[in-house]
Amino acid sequence: MKEYYEAIKKFHEKFEFKGTNNEDMQFRLNLLIEELGELAECVTKGKSKEDFIEENVDLLILTIGNLISTEISIEEFDKAFWKKHEKLMNREKRKISENKTRVSEFRGMD
Ligand SMILES: [Mg+2]
Repeated sequence: MKEYYEAIKKFHEKFEFKGTNNEDMQFRLNLLIEELGELAECVTKGKSKEDFIEENVDLLILTIGNLISTEISIEEFDKAFWKKHEKLMNREKRKISENKTRVSEFRGMD
């Protein structure tokens, strides 16, 4: 993750994103929605594995770029990641329909 963070930080520096729309979160949310749409298109239109991977990379680049844009350090993110991971690992898995399960906190669903 640190390697990706540093690479994307270099990308932001190279194109001088600091203080521009490229680090504005409203603009970035629009980019994320656009990329999520492209990923959705991969799934719904049965595009290639290569396209599917690329769209996931696009989303990861934007997500890491969100950290850089908001000056969140890799250490801060790493701590939050592992905190969330522990939470996920302690969640419950339930059958939600005949062939589907879901892992969630299931708050207020009992
Ligand atoms: Mg894309």
